[in-house]
Amino acid sequence: MLSGAGRLNYPVISNSVSTPPFRPVVPCLPGLLVLVLAMHGSASGQQTASLVWRGETFPIAVSRGDFSVGDVARAVGLTVSRDTTTGVLTIAAKPGRQLLAGPGTVQVPVDQKIVEISKPVRSDAGVLYAPADFFEKALFPFAGVTGAWDAGERLWTITPAGGPAAERGAPVTLDVAVVHVDPTTQVVLRESTAARFVPRLVESGLQIRWTDRKIVPPFAERRFDDPLVAAVRFEGDAVTVVFRDPTLTAHAYPLTDPDRIVVEVGRLVQSPPIEPAAPPPPVPALTIVVDPGHGGTETGAIGPAGLQEKDVTLQIARRLAAAIPRVVSSRVVLTRDSDSAISLDDRTSLANHEKAGLFLSLHANSSRAVGAHGSETYYLSLETSDQVSQDVARRENLAPAAAAPGSPEANPDLDFILWDLAQSAHINESSRLAEAIQTQLNVVSRTENRGIKQAPFRVLAGATMPAVLVEVGFISHPDEEKQLRSAAFQESVAVAIAKAVGEFFGRRQPAAAPAAGLAVTPSPAPSPGVTPSPAR
Ligand SMILES: [Zn+2]
Repeated sequence: MLSGAGRLNYPVISNSVSTPPFRPVVPCLPGLLVLVLAMHGSASGQQTASLVWRGETFPIAVSRGDFSVGDVARAVGLTVSRDTTTGVLTIAAKPGRQLLAGPGTVQVPVDQKIVEISKPVRSDAGVLYAPADFFEKALFPFAGVTGAWDAGERLWTITPAGGPAAERGAPVTLDVAVVHVDPTTQVVLRESTAARFVPRLVESGLQIRWTDRKIVPPFAERRFDDPLVAAVRFEGDAVTVVFRDPTLTAHAYPLTDPDRIVVEVGRLVQSPPIEPAAPPPPVPALTIVVDPGHGGTETGAIGPAGLQEKDVTLQIARRLAAAIPRVVSSRVVLTRDSDSAISLDDRTSLANHEKAGLFLSLHANSSRAVGAHGSETYYLSLETSDQVSQDVARRENLAPAAAAPGSPEANPDLDFILWDLAQSAHINESSRLAEAIQTQLNVVSRTENRGIKQAPFRVLAGATMPAVLVEVGFISHPDEEKQLRSAAFQESVAVAIAKAVGEFFGRRQPAAAPAAGLAVTPSPAPSPGVTPSPAR
């Protein structure tokens, strides 16, 4: 517990991978090309029609149900030139594309292809007329539009070929963050709204192109101090995540709430070389980070007899640092080994920087409820198990989140999404660890199981490893306050948690012989760590 300053707000985040939720598109007038054919009966069969394009009206000549090729072509923005000798129209579109039509044409040359139509183009008083399918199959696609002819209304309704959204969708405003979660780097492109995108590996990296929206990039190019991603570069309607070296690969997927695209950059998995004589690789050293809650001016909860949470958590953390290596061969790092204040984010940054295999945050609970006692173990969730868990998380989150909240790059929501991504990969293991710890603590506390709970603890959110928060007991309860003060109880709590850690690693890493000497590393100064990667 603690009293403190600012309260943190958490966005509701869903990690379900889904296809981009394209908004239903209701056609409306702006951006539509409406060709209105008004009938004017005449003895010669000549009629006039109108073509409306973005609110501008063009007259279209009509003869015996066929439409003037030149009128329609010019209306949709094409350039038309006529060979006076042959009567052939050359209809041009940039760059260097052309469509030809002359009297008698049924096979229409469009660029390098032939498009066949239902009846010949014909000349009437020096003007070329063509049937509806000439426009539908040849001219409109050539112009980059599609059209529907309504014979009853005698009305062409034409939309841009990319779909109605292509010209109408509001531009997508983008925000970029890069976070390295070893062994991959994730580039998160947060979108103001979900939009279709096409990812493609290019020589320099992974390119994402938005197909039916304009984009508003946050910058043209920014370099990142990241092991895998050198830069993020915007050009036109595309962004390129530039790899640091050509052996890297990447894939992209959308997430919702909020809308974002995640580009995950990593190394191709190489098949191991066939070397029978190769010695087995050394077992990598396991690092476990133990986080004594609170510190310095952040006293945490204070018991009725004056015991401060920050002191209890540090004393138990030191005992735990001694106990764990007796069970699991490991190096234990404390986030603090003195009465000092550390921000919540720096605690997990340290764990990430140390490439820790576990993150254990120690706390002592408090409650106004008379008789509240026992231990509780939490793992990260954006949803809480119950109202009590919500209250516990809210109080623990009151500590300052980041050391430098005023930095110009600060984007708390985006940061939290990144942290959430980091921890989400470990939720199952965190849950398993929480269960192992709670089972052991129930024995020590001789209490009913207060259960394993989930809550959005800020201090767990950034950890890129299994992470739990343990409320070892209720400092607000007079009897438990006495217990928490006693060396015997502190030691039994430490041993119980160490035993649970041993069980947790039991499958992955058999308990090794006790390390020679106590493998406790004093807390280094809080490091900004490697996540998220700072922009250069
Ligand atoms: Zn606390």
